[in-house]
Amino acid sequence: MKVVKFGGSSMANAAQIKKVCDIVLSDSERRIMVVSAPGKRDENDTKVTDMLIDLASAVISKEEYNEKLEAVVERYASIARDFNLGEEIVDTVRNDLHSRIDKRPEDDAKFMDLMKAAGEDNSAKIIAAYLQSIGVDAKYINPRDAGLLLSDEFGNARVLPESYENLKALKNETSLICFPGFFGYSTNGEVVTFSRGGSDITGSVLAAGVDAEVYENFTDVDFVFAANPKVVKNPKAIPFFTYEEMRELSYAGFNVLHEETLEPVYRKGIKVNIRNTNNPTAPGTFIVPDDGNPEYAPIRPVVGVAADKGFMTIHVEKYMMNREIGIGRKILQTLEEEGVSYEHTPSGIDSISVIVKKENCPDDKLARITDKLYDELGCDKVFVENDLAILMMVGRGMTKKVGVAKDAAVALADANVNLRMINQGSSEVSIMFGINEKDAEKGVVALYNKFFLNRE
Ligand code: ASP
Repeated sequence: MKVVKFGGSSMANAAQIKKVCDIVLSDSERRIMVVSAPGKRDENDTKVTDMLIDLASAVISKEEYNEKLEAVVERYASIARDFNLGEEIVDTVRNDLHSRIDKRPEDDAKFMDLMKAAGEDNSAKIIAAYLQSIGVDAKYINPRDAGLLLSDEFGNARVLPESYENLKALKNETSLICFPGFFGYSTNGEVVTFSRGGSDITGSVLAAGVDAEVYENFTDVDFVFAANPKVVKNPKAIPFFTYEEMRELSYAGFNVLHEETLEPVYRKGIKVNIRNTNNPTAPGTFIVPDDGNPEYAPIRPVVGVAADKGFMTIHVEKYMMNREIGIGRKILQTLEEEGVSYEHTPSGIDSISVIVKKENCPDDKLARITDKLYDELGCDKVFVENDLAILMMVGRGMTKKVGVAKDAAVALADANVNLRMINQGSSEVSIMFGINEKDAEKGVVALYNKFFLNRE
Protein backbone atom coordinates (compact mmCIF):
# COMPACT_ATOMS: atom_id res chain seq x y z
CA MET A 1 0.00 0.00 0.00
CA LYS A 2 1.25 3.46 -0.87
CA VAL A 3 0.33 6.78 0.69
CA VAL A 4 0.65 9.58 -1.85
CA LYS A 5 0.83 13.26 -0.98
CA PHE A 6 0.38 16.12 -3.44
CA GLY A 7 1.56 19.63 -2.67
CA GLY A 8 -0.03 22.97 -3.52
CA SER A 9 1.48 23.28 -7.00
CA SER A 10 -0.05 19.88 -7.88
CA MET A 11 -3.46 21.12 -6.70
CA ALA A 12 -3.28 24.60 -8.22
CA ASN A 13 -5.91 24.15 -10.95
CA ALA A 14 -7.98 21.54 -12.76
CA ALA A 15 -5.21 20.64 -15.21
CA GLN A 16 -2.85 19.87 -12.34
CA ILE A 17 -5.52 17.97 -10.40
CA LYS A 18 -6.18 15.88 -13.49
CA LYS A 19 -2.49 14.87 -13.48
CA VAL A 20 -2.78 14.03 -9.79
CA CYS A 21 -5.75 11.75 -10.44
CA ASP A 22 -4.02 10.05 -13.38
CA ILE A 23 -1.01 9.35 -11.18
CA VAL A 24 -3.11 7.87 -8.39
CA LEU A 25 -5.24 5.80 -10.73
CA SER A 26 -2.23 4.39 -12.60
CA ASP A 27 -1.17 2.29 -9.60
CA SER A 28 -3.71 0.31 -7.59
CA GLU A 29 -1.41 0.34 -4.55
CA ARG A 30 -1.94 4.07 -4.23
CA ARG A 31 -4.81 3.79 -1.76
CA ILE A 32 -4.58 6.99 0.25
CA MET A 33 -4.03 10.42 -1.20
CA VAL A 34 -3.23 13.42 0.98
CA VAL A 35 -3.74 16.81 -0.59
CA SER A 36 -2.65 20.38 0.06
CA ALA A 37 -4.67 23.52 -0.56
CA PRO A 38 -4.42 24.90 -4.12
CA GLY A 39 -1.08 26.67 -4.53
CA LYS A 40 0.12 29.27 -6.99
CA ARG A 41 -0.89 28.88 -10.64
CA ASP A 42 1.91 31.20 -11.70
CA GLU A 43 4.58 33.41 -10.17
CA ASN A 44 2.18 36.26 -9.38
CA ASP A 45 -0.59 34.12 -7.95
CA THR A 46 -1.46 33.69 -4.25
CA LYS A 47 -1.70 30.37 -2.41
CA VAL A 48 -5.16 29.62 -1.05
CA THR A 49 -3.67 29.23 2.44
CA ASP A 50 -2.34 32.80 2.25
CA MET A 51 -5.73 34.00 1.00
CA LEU A 52 -7.37 32.30 3.97
CA ILE A 53 -4.94 33.91 6.41
CA ASP A 54 -5.78 37.25 4.85
CA LEU A 55 -9.48 36.52 5.13
CA ALA A 56 -9.18 35.48 8.78
CA SER A 57 -7.17 38.63 9.56
CA ALA A 58 -9.90 40.77 7.99
CA VAL A 59 -12.53 39.05 10.13
CA ILE A 60 -10.43 39.51 13.26
CA SER A 61 -9.89 43.19 12.59
CA LYS A 62 -13.58 43.63 11.75
CA GLU A 63 -12.95 44.72 8.17
CA GLU A 64 -15.25 44.01 5.27
CA TYR A 65 -14.27 40.48 4.26
CA ASN A 66 -16.82 39.25 1.73
CA GLU A 67 -14.66 40.04 -1.28
CA LYS A 68 -11.79 38.04 0.18
CA LEU A 69 -14.12 35.15 0.95
CA GLU A 70 -15.50 35.15 -2.57
CA ALA A 71 -11.95 35.19 -3.98
CA VAL A 72 -11.27 31.92 -2.13
CA VAL A 73 -14.57 30.46 -3.33
CA GLU A 74 -13.63 31.43 -6.88
CA ARG A 75 -10.40 29.37 -6.72
CA TYR A 76 -12.49 26.25 -6.09
CA ALA A 77 -15.29 27.35 -8.41
CA SER A 78 -12.92 27.59 -11.36
CA ILE A 79 -11.71 24.04 -10.66
CA ALA A 80 -15.30 22.83 -10.31
CA ARG A 81 -16.25 24.53 -13.61
CA ASP A 82 -13.36 22.92 -15.48
CA PHE A 83 -14.44 19.53 -14.16
CA ASN A 84 -18.18 20.15 -14.79
CA LEU A 85 -18.93 19.43 -11.17
CA GLY A 86 -21.90 21.78 -10.94
CA GLU A 87 -22.72 24.61 -8.52
CA GLU A 88 -23.43 22.37 -5.56
CA ILE A 89 -19.79 21.87 -4.66
CA VAL A 90 -19.18 25.62 -4.95
CA ASP A 91 -22.00 26.25 -2.48
CA THR A 92 -20.44 23.68 -0.17
CA VAL A 93 -17.18 25.64 -0.14
CA ARG A 94 -18.94 28.98 0.40
CA ASN A 95 -21.14 27.61 3.20
CA ASP A 96 -18.13 25.97 4.79
CA LEU A 97 -16.24 29.29 4.96
CA HIS A 98 -19.27 31.14 6.35
CA SER A 99 -19.88 28.50 8.96
CA ARG A 100 -16.23 28.66 10.11
CA ILE A 101 -16.60 32.43 10.50
CA ASP A 102 -19.90 32.01 12.34
CA LYS A 103 -18.27 29.56 14.74
CA ARG A 104 -15.35 31.91 15.33
CA PRO A 105 -13.64 31.01 18.61
CA GLU A 106 -12.64 33.87 20.89
CA ASP A 107 -9.01 32.96 20.68
CA ASP A 108 -7.53 34.36 17.45
CA ALA A 109 -4.94 31.60 17.11
CA LYS A 110 -7.72 28.99 17.21
CA PHE A 111 -9.74 30.92 14.65
CA MET A 112 -6.71 31.22 12.37
CA ASP A 113 -6.25 27.44 12.39
CA LEU A 114 -9.93 26.84 11.76
CA MET A 115 -9.74 29.10 8.69
CA LYS A 116 -6.39 27.82 7.37
CA ALA A 117 -7.64 24.24 7.51
CA ALA A 118 -10.41 25.12 5.04
CA GLY A 119 -7.85 25.13 2.21
CA GLU A 120 -6.91 21.46 2.39
CA ASP A 121 -10.35 20.37 3.58
CA ASN A 122 -12.07 21.73 0.49
CA SER A 123 -9.28 20.45 -1.76
CA ALA A 124 -9.90 16.92 -0.53
CA LYS A 125 -13.66 17.31 -0.98
CA ILE A 126 -13.35 18.61 -4.51
CA ILE A 127 -10.91 15.95 -5.65
CA ALA A 128 -13.16 13.24 -4.20
CA ALA A 129 -16.11 14.78 -6.07
CA TYR A 130 -14.15 14.80 -9.32
CA LEU A 131 -13.03 11.19 -8.93
CA GLN A 132 -16.60 10.11 -8.17
CA SER A 133 -17.80 12.02 -11.24
CA ILE A 134 -15.56 9.88 -13.45
CA GLY A 135 -16.77 6.69 -11.80
CA VAL A 136 -13.99 6.06 -9.28
CA ASP A 137 -14.90 4.68 -5.87
CA ALA A 138 -13.29 7.55 -3.97
CA LYS A 139 -14.14 8.95 -0.55
CA TYR A 140 -13.30 12.11 1.38
CA ILE A 141 -12.29 11.33 4.94
CA ASN A 142 -12.20 13.97 7.65
CA PRO A 143 -9.22 13.82 10.03
CA ARG A 144 -11.61 13.86 13.00
CA ASP A 145 -13.35 10.70 11.82
CA ALA A 146 -10.00 9.07 11.15
CA GLY A 147 -8.78 9.94 14.68
CA LEU A 148 -5.89 12.22 13.70
CA LEU A 149 -5.33 13.85 17.08
CA LEU A 150 -2.89 16.71 17.55
CA SER A 151 -1.49 18.68 20.46
CA ASP A 152 -3.28 21.95 21.08
CA GLU A 153 -0.32 24.04 19.95
CA PHE A 154 -2.29 26.12 17.47
CA GLY A 155 -0.40 26.81 14.27
CA ASN A 156 2.41 24.50 15.31
CA ALA A 157 0.81 21.22 16.38
CA ARG A 158 2.44 17.85 16.96
CA VAL A 159 0.87 14.46 16.46
CA LEU A 160 -0.42 12.72 19.56
CA PRO A 161 0.79 9.11 19.73
CA GLU A 162 -2.71 7.59 19.95
CA SER A 163 -3.34 8.81 16.38
CA TYR A 164 -1.30 5.95 14.95
CA GLU A 165 -3.52 3.32 16.52
CA ASN A 166 -6.64 5.15 15.31
CA LEU A 167 -5.36 5.55 11.76
CA LYS A 168 -4.72 1.81 11.37
CA ALA A 169 -8.41 1.39 10.51
CA LEU A 170 -7.86 3.22 7.21
CA LYS A 171 -6.20 0.05 5.95
CA ASN A 172 -9.60 -1.59 5.75
CA GLU A 173 -11.17 1.08 3.56
CA THR A 174 -11.96 -0.28 0.13
CA SER A 175 -12.50 3.14 -1.46
CA LEU A 176 -9.68 5.38 -2.60
CA ILE A 177 -9.20 7.79 0.30
CA CYS A 178 -8.97 11.56 -0.26
CA PHE A 179 -7.54 12.99 2.95
CA PRO A 180 -6.86 16.68 3.65
CA GLY A 181 -3.34 17.52 4.80
CA PHE A 182 -2.14 20.12 7.30
CA PHE A 183 -4.68 19.78 10.12
CA GLY A 184 -6.17 17.48 12.69
CA TYR A 185 -8.14 17.87 15.91
CA SER A 186 -7.20 18.46 19.52
CA THR A 187 -8.62 16.12 22.14
CA ASN A 188 -11.19 18.89 22.78
CA GLY A 189 -12.37 18.61 19.20
CA GLU A 190 -10.86 21.87 17.97
CA VAL A 191 -9.21 22.20 14.56
CA VAL A 192 -5.42 22.53 14.90
CA THR A 193 -2.88 22.91 12.10
CA PHE A 194 0.75 21.97 11.81
CA SER A 195 3.15 24.77 10.96
CA ARG A 196 3.22 25.97 7.34
CA GLY A 197 3.91 23.27 4.78
CA GLY A 198 2.57 20.68 7.20
CA SER A 199 0.64 18.54 4.73
CA ASP A 200 3.91 16.64 4.33
CA ILE A 201 3.58 15.63 7.97
CA THR A 202 0.01 14.39 7.50
CA GLY A 203 1.21 12.12 4.69
CA SER A 204 3.99 10.74 6.82
CA VAL A 205 1.70 10.12 9.81
CA LEU A 206 -0.81 8.29 7.63
CA ALA A 207 1.93 6.21 6.00
CA ALA A 208 3.15 5.19 9.46
CA GLY A 209 -0.41 4.57 10.70
CA VAL A 210 -1.26 2.14 7.90
CA ASP A 211 2.26 0.68 7.66
CA ALA A 212 2.58 1.74 4.04
CA GLU A 213 5.30 0.24 1.92
CA VAL A 214 6.29 3.67 0.64
CA TYR A 215 5.29 7.27 1.18
CA GLU A 216 5.28 9.07 -2.17
CA ASN A 217 5.53 12.83 -1.92
CA PHE A 218 4.72 14.48 -5.23
CA THR A 219 6.00 17.98 -5.80
CA ASP A 220 7.30 19.91 -8.79
CA VAL A 221 10.90 18.72 -9.15
CA ASP A 222 12.25 15.55 -10.75
CA PHE A 223 14.82 15.01 -8.02
CA VAL A 224 16.14 16.51 -4.87
CA PHE A 225 19.32 18.36 -5.67
CA ALA A 226 22.56 18.58 -3.76
CA ALA A 227 22.07 22.31 -3.27
CA ASN A 228 19.41 24.92 -3.84
CA PRO A 229 19.15 25.49 -7.64
CA LYS A 230 18.49 29.16 -6.93
CA VAL A 231 21.96 29.42 -5.40
CA VAL A 232 24.00 26.88 -7.38
CA LYS A 233 23.65 26.55 -11.15
CA ASN A 234 22.51 23.08 -12.28
CA PRO A 235 23.27 21.26 -9.05
CA LYS A 236 23.60 17.49 -9.14
CA ALA A 237 20.46 15.40 -8.67
CA ILE A 238 20.70 13.03 -5.73
CA PRO A 239 18.99 9.64 -6.18
CA PHE A 240 18.85 8.81 -2.46
CA PHE A 241 19.47 10.22 0.98
CA THR A 242 19.19 8.53 4.36
CA TYR A 243 16.61 9.87 6.80
CA GLU A 244 19.37 11.38 8.85
CA GLU A 245 20.95 13.19 5.90
CA MET A 246 17.61 14.56 4.78
CA ARG A 247 16.71 15.64 8.29
CA GLU A 248 19.94 17.61 8.62
CA LEU A 249 19.45 19.24 5.23
CA SER A 250 15.79 20.10 5.82
CA TYR A 251 16.84 21.67 9.07
CA ALA A 252 19.41 23.80 7.30
CA GLY A 253 16.99 25.21 4.79
CA PHE A 254 16.40 22.49 2.19
CA ASN A 255 12.82 23.33 1.38
CA VAL A 256 11.91 20.02 -0.15
CA LEU A 257 10.08 18.56 2.82
CA HIS A 258 8.72 20.09 5.99
CA GLU A 259 11.37 19.68 8.65
CA GLU A 260 9.18 17.44 10.82
CA THR A 261 8.08 15.12 8.02
CA LEU A 262 10.43 12.25 8.51
CA GLU A 263 9.94 11.29 12.14
CA PRO A 264 6.81 9.12 11.72
CA VAL A 265 8.14 7.16 8.71
CA TYR A 266 11.62 6.95 10.19
CA ARG A 267 10.28 5.09 13.23
CA LYS A 268 8.70 2.48 10.94
CA GLY A 269 11.50 2.35 8.35
CA ILE A 270 9.09 3.38 5.56
CA LYS A 271 10.83 4.76 2.46
CA VAL A 272 9.91 8.17 1.12
CA ASN A 273 9.95 8.82 -2.60
CA ILE A 274 9.97 12.46 -3.71
CA ARG A 275 8.58 12.74 -7.22
CA ASN A 276 7.31 15.19 -9.80
CA THR A 277 3.61 15.51 -10.64
CA ASN A 278 4.60 17.11 -13.95
CA ASN A 279 6.95 14.27 -14.87
CA PRO A 280 5.66 11.14 -13.14
CA THR A 281 7.92 8.74 -15.02
CA ALA A 282 11.04 10.19 -13.39
CA PRO A 283 12.02 7.88 -10.53
CA GLY A 284 12.59 10.76 -8.14
CA THR A 285 14.68 10.73 -4.99
CA PHE A 286 14.37 8.10 -2.26
CA ILE A 287 14.84 8.70 1.42
CA VAL A 288 15.83 5.43 2.99
CA PRO A 289 16.95 3.89 6.28
CA ASP A 290 20.68 3.63 6.89
CA ASP A 291 20.57 -0.16 7.12
CA GLY A 292 23.73 -1.09 5.24
CA ASN A 293 21.87 -1.92 2.02
CA PRO A 294 24.64 -1.84 -0.64
CA GLU A 295 22.18 -0.38 -3.14
CA TYR A 296 22.26 2.81 -1.09
CA ALA A 297 25.96 2.93 -0.24
CA PRO A 298 27.24 6.54 -0.30
CA ILE A 299 28.69 7.58 -3.64
CA ARG A 300 30.60 10.60 -2.37
CA PRO A 301 31.45 12.05 1.05
CA VAL A 302 28.99 14.92 0.89
CA VAL A 303 25.44 14.58 -0.47
CA GLY A 304 24.12 18.04 0.18
CA VAL A 305 24.99 21.59 1.16
CA ALA A 306 22.52 24.09 2.56
CA ALA A 307 22.39 27.33 4.47
CA ASP A 308 19.75 28.97 6.59
CA LYS A 309 19.64 32.50 7.91
CA GLY A 310 17.97 34.09 10.90
CA PHE A 311 20.01 32.78 13.82
CA MET A 312 21.62 34.56 16.75
CA THR A 313 24.10 33.56 19.42
CA ILE A 314 23.82 34.20 23.13
CA HIS A 315 27.41 34.03 24.41
CA VAL A 316 27.71 33.29 28.10
CA GLU A 317 31.02 33.52 29.96
CA LYS A 318 31.82 32.57 33.53
CA TYR A 319 35.28 32.08 34.95
CA MET A 320 35.91 28.41 35.92
CA MET A 321 32.69 27.32 34.25
CA ASN A 322 34.06 23.86 33.57
CA ARG A 323 34.28 23.14 37.34
CA GLU A 324 30.73 24.18 38.11
CA ILE A 325 28.46 21.17 38.15
CA GLY A 326 25.06 21.85 36.61
CA ILE A 327 25.88 25.24 35.04
CA GLY A 328 25.06 24.02 31.51
CA ARG A 329 21.65 22.80 32.61
CA LYS A 330 20.93 26.02 34.49
CA ILE A 331 21.88 28.18 31.50
CA LEU A 332 19.60 26.20 29.21
CA GLN A 333 16.88 26.28 31.85
CA THR A 334 16.73 30.08 31.57
CA LEU A 335 15.75 29.57 27.93
CA GLU A 336 13.32 26.80 28.83
CA GLU A 337 11.56 29.08 31.32
CA GLU A 338 10.94 31.54 28.48
CA GLY A 339 9.78 28.80 26.09
CA VAL A 340 12.77 29.33 23.78
CA SER A 341 14.23 26.27 22.06
CA TYR A 342 17.92 26.20 21.27
CA GLU A 343 19.66 24.85 18.19
CA HIS A 344 23.33 24.28 19.05
CA THR A 345 25.58 24.86 22.03
CA PRO A 346 29.26 25.03 21.09
CA SER A 347 31.30 25.57 24.22
CA GLY A 348 34.76 26.40 25.59
CA ILE A 349 36.11 25.79 29.08
CA ASP A 350 34.70 29.00 30.50
CA SER A 351 32.03 29.82 27.95
CA ILE A 352 29.07 28.47 26.16
CA SER A 353 27.36 29.87 23.07
CA VAL A 354 23.70 29.12 22.74
CA ILE A 355 22.43 29.42 19.19
CA VAL A 356 18.75 30.17 18.78
CA LYS A 357 16.48 31.16 15.94
CA LYS A 358 15.84 34.89 16.13
CA GLU A 359 12.13 34.42 15.54
CA ASN A 360 11.95 32.26 18.70
CA CYS A 361 13.65 34.77 20.96
CA PRO A 362 12.13 38.24 20.78
CA ASP A 363 13.70 41.15 22.69
CA ASP A 364 11.55 40.86 25.83
CA LYS A 365 12.45 37.20 26.32
CA LEU A 366 16.09 37.89 25.60
CA ALA A 367 16.17 40.66 28.21
CA ARG A 368 14.73 38.35 30.89
CA ILE A 369 17.14 35.55 29.96
CA THR A 370 20.10 37.93 30.16
CA ASP A 371 19.00 39.25 33.57
CA LYS A 372 18.72 35.74 34.96
CA LEU A 373 22.12 34.74 33.60
CA TYR A 374 23.70 37.68 35.45
CA ASP A 375 21.59 37.84 38.58
CA GLU A 376 20.76 34.20 39.32
CA LEU A 377 23.68 32.33 37.76
CA GLY A 378 26.38 34.92 38.40
CA CYS A 379 27.70 34.88 34.83
CA ASP A 380 30.56 37.33 34.11
CA LYS A 381 29.58 38.32 30.62
CA VAL A 382 26.56 37.78 28.39
CA PHE A 383 26.43 39.19 24.90
CA VAL A 384 24.44 38.59 21.77
CA GLU A 385 25.55 38.39 18.17
CA ASN A 386 23.04 38.63 15.37
CA ASP A 387 23.14 37.97 11.65
CA LEU A 388 24.28 34.40 11.97
CA ALA A 389 23.67 31.86 9.22
CA ILE A 390 24.07 28.14 9.59
CA LEU A 391 25.94 26.51 6.73
CA MET A 392 25.65 22.77 6.72
CA MET A 393 27.37 20.08 4.73
CA VAL A 394 25.89 16.65 5.08
CA GLY A 395 26.80 13.11 4.10
CA ARG A 396 27.27 9.69 5.67
CA GLY A 397 30.30 9.31 3.41
CA MET A 398 32.18 11.79 5.62
CA THR A 399 32.15 9.37 8.54
CA LYS A 400 35.68 8.39 9.46
CA LYS A 401 37.00 10.04 6.33
CA VAL A 402 40.08 12.12 6.98
CA GLY A 403 40.40 15.59 5.48
CA VAL A 404 36.80 16.52 4.72
CA ALA A 405 36.73 19.33 7.29
CA LYS A 406 40.07 20.58 6.00
CA ASP A 407 38.82 20.66 2.42
CA ALA A 408 35.73 22.55 3.53
CA ALA A 409 37.66 25.05 5.62
CA VAL A 410 40.10 25.71 2.77
CA ALA A 411 37.25 26.17 0.27
CA LEU A 412 35.53 28.64 2.60
CA ALA A 413 38.78 30.50 3.29
CA ASP A 414 39.47 30.77 -0.44
CA ALA A 415 36.00 32.27 -0.87
CA ASN A 416 36.76 34.72 1.94
CA VAL A 417 34.00 33.38 4.20
CA ASN A 418 34.77 33.98 7.85
CA LEU A 419 33.99 30.99 10.12
CA ARG A 420 32.44 32.12 13.38
CA MET A 421 31.79 28.63 14.62
CA ILE A 422 32.33 25.00 13.65
CA ASN A 423 30.34 22.09 15.01
CA GLN A 424 30.49 18.43 14.11
CA GLY A 425 28.02 16.01 15.64
CA SER A 426 29.42 12.74 16.98
CA SER A 427 27.63 10.81 14.24
CA GLU A 428 29.95 12.63 11.80
CA VAL A 429 27.11 12.86 9.32
CA SER A 430 27.25 16.64 9.15
CA ILE A 431 29.50 19.60 9.75
CA MET A 432 27.93 22.90 10.66
CA PHE A 433 29.60 26.25 10.14
CA GLY A 434 28.31 29.42 11.75
CA ILE A 435 28.94 32.26 9.27
CA ASN A 436 27.72 35.78 8.62
CA GLU A 437 24.33 35.93 7.00
CA LYS A 438 25.71 37.93 4.10
CA ASP A 439 28.05 35.03 3.25
CA ALA A 440 25.38 32.32 3.21
CA GLU A 441 25.07 31.94 -0.56
CA LYS A 442 28.79 32.31 -1.10
CA GLY A 443 29.42 29.56 1.44
CA VAL A 444 27.01 27.16 -0.26
CA VAL A 445 28.64 27.75 -3.64
CA ALA A 446 32.15 27.30 -2.23
CA LEU A 447 31.31 23.98 -0.57
CA TYR A 448 29.31 22.74 -3.53
CA ASN A 449 32.15 23.48 -5.93
CA LYS A 450 34.63 21.77 -3.66
CA PHE A 451 32.69 18.56 -3.12
CA PHE A 452 30.68 18.14 -6.30
CA LEU A 453 32.52 19.69 -9.24
CA ASN A 454 35.12 17.54 -10.94
CA ARG A 455 34.12 14.56 -8.83
CA GLU A 456 32.09 11.51 -9.74
N1 ASP B 1 -1.31 24.73 2.60
C1 ASP B 1 -0.45 24.76 3.73
C2 ASP B 1 0.64 25.81 3.51
O1 ASP B 1 0.66 26.50 2.51
C3 ASP B 1 0.10 23.43 4.07
C4 ASP B 1 0.81 22.70 2.95
O2 ASP B 1 0.65 23.04 1.79
O3 ASP B 1 1.53 21.76 3.24
O4 ASP B 1 1.45 25.99 4.37
